[in-house]
Amino acid sequence: MGLVVQKFGGSSVANAERVFNVARTITETYKEGNEVVVVVSAQGDTTDELIEKAMEINKKPSKREMDMLLSSGEQISISLLAMAIEALGFPVISLTGWQAGMKTNSNYSIARLKKIDTERVRSELDKNNIVIVAGFQGINKYDDITTLGRGGSDTSAVALAAALHADVCQIYTDVDGVYTADPRIVKDAKKLDEISYDEMLELASLGANVLNNRSVEMAKKYNVKLMVLSSLHKAAGTIVKEVNDVEKMLVRGVTRDNDTARISLLEVEDTPGKAFSVFSLLAKHNINVDLIIQSIGRNNTKDISFTVASSNLDEALSVLNENKSVIAPKDIQWNDDVSKVSIVGAGMVTNPGVAAKMFEALYKSNINIHMIATSEIKVSVLIDRKDAERAVVAIHDEFDMAN
Ligand code: ADP
Ligand code: ASP
Ligand code: MG
Repeated sequence: MGLVVQKFGGSSVANAERVFNVARTITETYKEGNEVVVVVSAQGDTTDELIEKAMEINKKPSKREMDMLLSSGEQISISLLAMAIEALGFPVISLTGWQAGMKTNSNYSIARLKKIDTERVRSELDKNNIVIVAGFQGINKYDDITTLGRGGSDTSAVALAAALHADVCQIYTDVDGVYTADPRIVKDAKKLDEISYDEMLELASLGANVLNNRSVEMAKKYNVKLMVLSSLHKAAGTIVKEVNDVEKMLVRGVTRDNDTARISLLEVEDTPGKAFSVFSLLAKHNINVDLIIQSIGRNNTKDISFTVASSNLDEALSVLNENKSVIAPKDIQWNDDVSKVSIVGAGMVTNPGVAAKMFEALYKSNINIHMIATSEIKVSVLIDRKDAERAVVAIHDEFDMAN
């Protein structure tokens, strides 16, 4: 007996049959004597469909109104799921993010949770209710609805688990757990029984959307026991935990991220302070920069290339163009037809051959590398998007990750 937080993603509640399937998983956990708090996402592709609806009306809507719109998806699924649980004869109540005390900052569309007032959820649990909470949404100090960024329901679940001191946070999705690669891309990808928070955080940040990266960050910070499981059938899943007894694998997984674009500033004057002015400008506009390359100076000029999220490309380009006189590049080029492919593994740091092996796999597949970045536990390359899936398969094979 304990307190269990369960999260069900969009595909897990996509239609009536799946909603009932999820309702049965929840009520079984409840029948075992547990207190159960459930976080649920919008059904199927609802969030994407709502975005399309907005675009039909206004191509540049305010973020506040977007959050108002997108949060409605989760409100549909919490009520439907609660009705299914009622139909099964169990006590249940659904709560929006606001009702559940999910307090965020005011960064609409990508708000951060600041605090959770758990009184309401706690009092519903004390009344023996199963509590269903809308994922992905919260409320700011102006009492306006905010959303936590795409995939944010995972973060809602982990945050609730931390605030309620839950015994476990179970993330139910449409695959059996975390794999060595996206099983939709690599047919023989292998399910991992365990993975460390750090490795999972890298994988999630580098495109493995099975878990949202902020949710992993939060699980690590508050030491939440996190599990990834299938909502469709019973299987062991993957446990995400502190590193100690997780075997240090050379390479734990390979992932690709299509949400990236490259910007190059050509022939910038080779004097101190140029990189500072470029990147402080972008930081001022809240634009995150990822891979960075600066060429060595030749003829008093150098080239600076970097990547940003695709969604930030337009803004980054206009900021740079507005400040062209300060930075003074000869030309600004960009390419959003690229992908970032990365390998992740905690054992990598002590093994110098790993990056070379990755590059060999790409060479053998005749795939050209535009940029490279490494850290202690990852190697990332930027390549043409058309090559990305082929690259993931080739790298998975090269490291023999299926075995
Ligand atoms: P949910 O709607 O449940 O939140 P998501 O679509 O956000 O589900 O995440 C699950 C998907 O993540 C899977 O269907 C799978 O295609 C993808 N995925 C990407 N990388 C991995 C990985 N390494 N292991 C498992 N799934 C992955
Ligand atoms: N419904 C939101 C999205 O599609 C949140 C989530 O699924 O986690 O991004
Ligand atoms: Mg998700």
